Amino acid sequence: MPGSDIEAVEYTDAQREQIRRDYAARRQRQMIVFVLMLLAILALFLKRRLEELIGVRLDHLTTVAFGLILFRIAFAWWNWRCPGCKQYLGRGFNPKFCQRCGVQLHD
Ligand SMILES: [Zn+2]
Repeated sequence: MPGSDIEAVEYTDAQREQIRRDYAARRQRQMIVFVLMLLAILALFLKRRLEELIGVRLDHLTTVAFGLILFRIAFAWWNWRCPGCKQYLGRGFNPKFCQRCGVQLHD
């Protein structure tokens, strides 16, 4: 196919079923880590108020928050891959098909 990056890979029905299950698990992990990172960023913005609220200085909050952001990047690089061909799935939140092998990832 000229002008297309898709290398059509033939998967068996069992493989396709496995790929969908694996993708659902990957997406769930991706969401959890994303929400944790959002909470860390939110906590950074609300640091002073949080400190006033609980009466404790949060000296390590900045380090922890930036650590989580870096972790999110590394985690996504490892986790956010097509279960079939292992290609990175890109920036989309819930792609329906793999851009490389064309497998359907969810209904
Ligand atoms: Zn793929």
